[in-house]
Amino acid sequence: MTRPLQITVLGATGSIGLSTLDVVSRHPERYSVFALTGFSRLAELRTLCVQHRPRYAVVSDETQSLVLQDQLQRDGLATRVLSGEGGLSEVAAHPEVDVVMAAIVGAAGLKPTLAAVRSDKRVLLANKEALVMSGALFMQALRDSAAVLLPIDSEHNAIFQCLPPNYSRGLAAVGVRRVLLTASGGPFRDLAPEFLADVTPEQACAHPNWSMGRKISVDSASMMNKGLELIEACWLFDARPHQVEVVIHPQSVIHSMVDYVDGSVLAQLGNPDMRTPIAHALAWPERIDSGVSALDLLQIGRLDFQAPDDLRFPCLRLARLAAENGGTAPAMLNAANEVAVDAFLNRRIRFTEIASIIDDVLNREASVPTDCLEDVLAADRQAREIAGAWLSRNGR
Ligand code: NAD
Ligand code: MG
Repeated sequence: MTRPLQITVLGATGSIGLSTLDVVSRHPERYSVFALTGFSRLAELRTLCVQHRPRYAVVSDETQSLVLQDQLQRDGLATRVLSGEGGLSEVAAHPEVDVVMAAIVGAAGLKPTLAAVRSDKRVLLANKEALVMSGALFMQALRDSAAVLLPIDSEHNAIFQCLPPNYSRGLAAVGVRRVLLTASGGPFRDLAPEFLADVTPEQACAHPNWSMGRKISVDSASMMNKGLELIEACWLFDARPHQVEVVIHPQSVIHSMVDYVDGSVLAQLGNPDMRTPIAHALAWPERIDSGVSALDLLQIGRLDFQAPDDLRFPCLRLARLAAENGGTAPAMLNAANEVAVDAFLNRRIRFTEIASIIDDVLNREASVPTDCLEDVLAADRQAREIAGAWLSRNGR
């Protein structure tokens, strides 16, 4: 019998991390937890360690690591606690690890995810921001390695399932006209635009179909999530921005589609539950139970589609612009958005000012080509500074 695959879950305490552990624990003969990482919510990380008995746990700093190490010893566990960026990269690249779930939110996930790619792992990519920031370098690192990258974002996982196995020859070469990225439209899809300035973080985080972390929930409400996903799709599937069309589909049942030159459109459907793409990527090319119930189309009854409204969702337009400009523009877009979303969640700005901050950053700083990770990180820092200055001038 083959040994279970060893898995590192980066961002184990988050929404994707917990869904991953749910799927993994349904298949103890296939998967064993090697490392779990968490940034805050130490008590939850401790509980997860007791449940999954990983070899390593990683926390943000030395002080936290001493506290957790002491607690885990008292729990009778041999788990070693590491800390910081070094600890994250160590458990992502460890020679005994087979699979890495990259589920840290934001730019903080970039280095450990790259470390997993460079160490030839099967990398399950939820952390879209990492790819958005450093797409060219990331995809080059992938080509230079024996790593296998599988998309977790439900849309990209759907597209991956609808593409032929040889799609890396190029979309045109395999007869693809375009990909259709579906979007729920979030909680403000039908809200009159004049009310958008007054929506609260609580309203923005109340997504109609998906239960997710707070940052991606706000991104979904502004449709920046779809903008980041557009850039993500361009890198993953070697598409030009005009080959990726966004379609609002309020039911979130079709997770995305591929439109072929012969007129065929292939779609992947399922209940909106991230355990489906997670199970798909864990087992690919096999299929395993994810715990998600069967789709009941008769109960759903109808599937609707509409075009996104650029006036209501300026973030989508800004992301498309950054995708077309390339170079450091997507990294700056992402960093400005992270600062803006954090400020909105902390009630320092209005919802509509998220787009104002990103627009300001993209206007002040021209995009330049990226040759190395340092260029990307410098663009990220600069965008955060400009966004910070905007907040000092205009934020509450
Ligand atoms: P979340 O906020 O629920 O969890 C984030 C995780 O990252 C937590 O474990 C947290 O401790 C860790 N983290 C946060 N800041 C960190 C830092 N500075 N250093 C190290 N670790 C840090 O987020 P989520 O909803 O699980 O999303 C995770 C990623 O997956 C995001 O990139 C998101 O865009 C993507 N994603 C999520 C969903 C979803 O349904 N939740 C769907 C598609 C893609
Ligand atoms: Mg998605």
